[in-house]
Amino acid sequence: MKTNNGRLIVFSAPSGCGKGTMLAEILKNEDYCVSVSATTRQPREGETDGVNYYFLSKGDFLQKVADSEFLEYAEYCDNYYGTLISEVDGKLSEGKNVILEIEVQGAMKIREKRPDAVFVFIAPPSISELRRRLRKRGTETEEVIEKRVSQAAGELSYAEKYDYVIVNDDLDDAVSDFFAVMRAEKLRTKYSENTINEVLKNA
Ligand code: 5GP
Repeated sequence: MKTNNGRLIVFSAPSGCGKGTMLAEILKNEDYCVSVSATTRQPREGETDGVNYYFLSKGDFLQKVADSEFLEYAEYCDNYYGTLISEVDGKLSEGKNVILEIEVQGAMKIREKRPDAVFVFIAPPSISELRRRLRKRGTETEEVIEKRVSQAAGELSYAEKYDYVIVNDDLDDAVSDFFAVMRAEKLRTKYSENTINEVLKNA
């Protein structure tokens, strides 16, 4: 299969795994972009509508569900989150690799709808390190932190359903592992039909 489309990348990590920092590094490469999701959660300090998320009321979110505007959506920690089709397909056809930063339930739905996507799971070095990072972020109450820690522990059991697992202990190593994955993906036989033709042409 030869295509000039970009790759769809599902990038999941329990909250506090350093996914945001990793993404900021990855997005310095202009071949990559991120799909901005819609959510019903309140914006955190420093978050901007249309940049971090489209922040919607529950009513507006459910209207988009009814209008089939989502590639997937899920409920997570009492809020809805969803991937807008409009955010994904245009960018893929422009040749960009589009990253979906989504939780595991949504990821499994993408697995069914877009089997060609690359599934990458980011894990923390340990649960205690995860708790430490969430506290350091200082954006959530202790109650919410504990809820997210137990959610994270449950999410780790989904890692085996992904194509790749990257442990984010050291940021530079984790980012370089990500690009190694994408490099290997590019060399998959099904994307390299022309490679052998080129080799034979110069016999
Ligand atoms: P947060 O509230 O920390 O920004 O995100 C909570 C969780 O929701 C994270 O695991 C994040 O990856 C996930 N998430 C963000 N956008 C989407 C989305 O569009 N769909 C799904 N299924 N999960 C999402």
